[in-house]
Amino acid sequence: MVGAACARAAALRGLRVSVFEPGPIPGAASAASGGMLAAQIEPGDDEWLLALSVRGRDLYEALAPALKDATGIDIGFWREGIASVAFDNASANRLRVVVAQERQAGLRCDWLEPDDVHERWPGTAPECWGALFAPEDGAVDPEALTRALLADARRQGATVVHASVERVNVEEGRITGVATVADTAAAPHVILAAGAWSPRIAGLPRPPTVEPVRGQLVMIPWPTGTPPAILYAEHGYILARGGKAICGSTMEHVGFDARVTKEGQAEILERAVRLLPALASLPVEQTWAGLRPMTSDWRPIVGPDPEVEGLWYATGHGRNGILLAGLTGEIIGDLLTKGDTDIDISPMRPRQLMADG
Ligand SMILES: Cc1cc2nc3c(=O)[nH]c(=O)nc-3n(C[C@H](O)[C@H](O)[C@H](O)COP(=O)(O)OP(=O)(O)OC[C@H]3O[C@@H](n4cnc5c(N)ncnc54)[C@H](O)[C@@H]3O)c2cc1C
Repeated sequence: MVGAACARAAALRGLRVSVFEPGPIPGAASAASGGMLAAQIEPGDDEWLLALSVRGRDLYEALAPALKDATGIDIGFWREGIASVAFDNASANRLRVVVAQERQAGLRCDWLEPDDVHERWPGTAPECWGALFAPEDGAVDPEALTRALLADARRQGATVVHASVERVNVEEGRITGVATVADTAAAPHVILAAGAWSPRIAGLPRPPTVEPVRGQLVMIPWPTGTPPAILYAEHGYILARGGKAICGSTMEHVGFDARVTKEGQAEILERAVRLLPALASLPVEQTWAGLRPMTSDWRPIVGPDPEVEGLWYATGHGRNGILLAGLTGEIIGDLLTKGDTDIDISPMRPRQLMADG
């Protein structure tokens, strides 16, 4: 996904682009993702990440119709808000503070009393203490978004090479291209966007400190009587898409193991049923898992390598790579062509986030 967004942005700016993609690999995060644009919910106390996330979310307002016009693909951009529900006094107090902070930052954000929550979404848990409501948050369909970004990149002349990159080639402090098992390809710029697999590519001056964190998901029919919504509580959520409830998710440090587990599914179902009790009586239709590329501070790694000219990073998007994909593409596209971006990327420059940097 992030690679497709960078490829599109670079191709739109007139650069010759090749995307190296081995094909669907088990555990790739984008295909597994829920696709929430939870800009005002996910960043927590990180003010810089909040501002970046809001910008990333708002970009879809123009990107969705642009991709539809260019490729005919509807990315399912849905913007009717996300509610973060409190189940005790402490979380209600914490969320009220967040509402105040976000309003102070000029964002639309409301506190909903328990009656408001039940009125808007009949069927929500009676023991709810209220909810933070971010009316401009929403979701996209991640599969459609990846397809559309890649189709638009190809329309602009980008080619896709179905091969895995084994190493980046560097000579005298400058990137010269990449090598696959079978071949090498010369290039003045290489963008590393291999998600959780990014540190595994050989030849990098320092592997980016990204580690796989497994997230499992469960799909259940959306209960009748409750309008489509995205409801969130702590790190559990329910997302309505196509008549289904996509329920997530776990945060598991299990290396590159992308299997689903009974324990993980039980944890997700418990949180989902707490939000919408009617889900308890509906059948689980599908389960799956993906590997998020996490950094320790949850900020992505986007920008130039501090030492190797022509080597760029677009990885480590953690829980919010769909939200930030479009914006990451724009940042990389501008850096490649103008050498600069109007977005303050200093807090996520690779220098600060590398093992030895
Ligand atoms: C369960 C779950 C739910 C999520 N929900 C959300 C959400 O609601 N909202 C949100 O914003 N984010 C969400 N995320 C996070 C989001 O999915 C990720 O941050 C994002 O998909 C990362 O994109 P990526 O392109 O960096 O990585 P991936 O999608 O993992 O892609 C990595 C790519 O690198 C390729 N690759 C690997 N090795 C090589 C190699 N050697 N050579 C060439 N290519 C290679 C792979 O084939 C793959 O295409 C979720 C993630 C999970 C797992």
